[in-house]
Amino acid sequence: MKKWYDEEYAWTIEVVGFLQGDKTENYCRNGEEIGDKYTCTYGCPVNAQGQGICSKVMLQMFPIMEAVRAGGDLRNIGGDGQYSKTIVCPDGCVMFRMTAEKLEGENFHTGGFWRPE
Ligand SMILES: [Zn+2]
Repeated sequence: MKKWYDEEYAWTIEVVGFLQGDKTENYCRNGEEIGDKYTCTYGCPVNAQGQGICSKVMLQMFPIMEAVRAGGDLRNIGGDGQYSKTIVCPDGCVMFRMTAEKLEGENFHTGGFWRPE
């Protein structure tokens, strides 16, 4: 992998609770635990041990990440800050708080990095 674009946003995703029960057995096969932290920019979030976040939750996170990259405000879709929102995995158990941080990178599309061939 050769990352050639310095991203505009970095993400931290933290497991903040369980919607039901006190463990993920029989709910989420990825075995998320409260306090687990994942980070990413554009790629899929990984934890400090290099393990990936539950792939099913990417279905929900990607459009939210795109909303931020489009200049949106997550409070307009129920977030608790411009760059912060808590979601529940489609399995209906693990609650993730996703938080973006604005970096120095220019916008991917309007910053002149990406040019069609
Ligand atoms: Zn899950």
